Amino acid sequence: MTPEKEKSILEIRKRLLKWYRSHARQLPWRQTKDPYKIWVSEIMLQQTQVKTVIPFYKKFIKIFPNLKSLARAEENEILAQWSGLGYYRRAKLLHQGAKYVFENYQGIVPEEPEELKKIPGVGPYTAGAISSIAYNRPSPLVDGNVIRVFSRIFSHPGHAKSGELHKKIWREAQQVIDPKSPGDFNQALMELGATVCRKYLPSCQRCPLQDECTSYQNNTVEQFPETPPSTQIISLTRVVAICQHQQGILFVKRHKTRWFEGMWELPHDYCQSEESAQKTLELLIKNQLKSSMTQPVKISPSIHHITHHKINSLPWHGKINKIQPCKKTFQDFGFFSLNQLKQLAIPNFERKVLQKAKIL
Ligand code: SF4
Repeated sequence: MTPEKEKSILEIRKRLLKWYRSHARQLPWRQTKDPYKIWVSEIMLQQTQVKTVIPFYKKFIKIFPNLKSLARAEENEILAQWSGLGYYRRAKLLHQGAKYVFENYQGIVPEEPEELKKIPGVGPYTAGAISSIAYNRPSPLVDGNVIRVFSRIFSHPGHAKSGELHKKIWREAQQVIDPKSPGDFNQALMELGATVCRKYLPSCQRCPLQDECTSYQNNTVEQFPETPPSTQIISLTRVVAICQHQQGILFVKRHKTRWFEGMWELPHDYCQSEESAQKTLELLIKNQLKSSMTQPVKISPSIHHITHHKINSLPWHGKINKIQPCKKTFQDFGFFSLNQLKQLAIPNFERKVLQKAKIL
């Protein structure tokens, strides 16, 4: 490392920590050093905004206040508490992870990133966060925010998804992390990325790292990180049956599902186009549910995005009587009242559909 870079790193540590200690947002998971609670918060924050996570985090910690309570809970209970937060695989892996720690580490979350990474659902970023924030170990972490901030400060070429840039920034993060306050330093870096060095329109005029930021000094901030090649969006059209029964709305669990294994979904099927939607609905009800829908009413469609998929849901609402769901397709089914629906583990896009139908 050159003496200039060494000097710059010392400045970055000093300025960033000073800024963080006077500007950090008061977030519920920042009031604790409990590794379990930090773990939960980091998993919830993956691909989800802070303001969305706060109420879910508070409720989740109230119901599962420690690792033991989570490890012993049923998956269904956990999914129900996660319902509305999306990306349900995170909840399942968190549950598996809690059980793993219980069985392999006597219920004590390990301190070392190498041990933490053995836990289901804990990747290098989460391992770095738990190790540094809960145990004050000098473990770096790198996510999209850190990549953006480092790319700009050091004017690194390469786009945000490039493996080479990731490796370089992981090495750099290890050099730059403050050895005395690694937890605060990592949080400061993420806070700067989230609130100042944002993807669009960064607020360089109030950034504590202006003097150390090469792209700011060279007036090239907009060039870093480079834009990755765009991912093609796949559009899917889904016909959804809102089957009203005297006992409630019909929900099913499929044996194999594209995204939401173990969760309750409205009966649905994919179709080629909106023109073939009604025919697909009829076949779904006749062949898969062995039933018929009386007076089906078309509900306005709703759009939902999952990763690079755009899903257009076309719902129909109508009454059904007897049903006999196909056992090859469905592992379970049930009718749920409005009150039960509020507690049920169902994906967000089914909630949207029910809201369009003015049921929720
Ligand atoms: S000066 Fe601007 S580009 Fe550089 S780290 Fe600060 S906010 Fe980011």
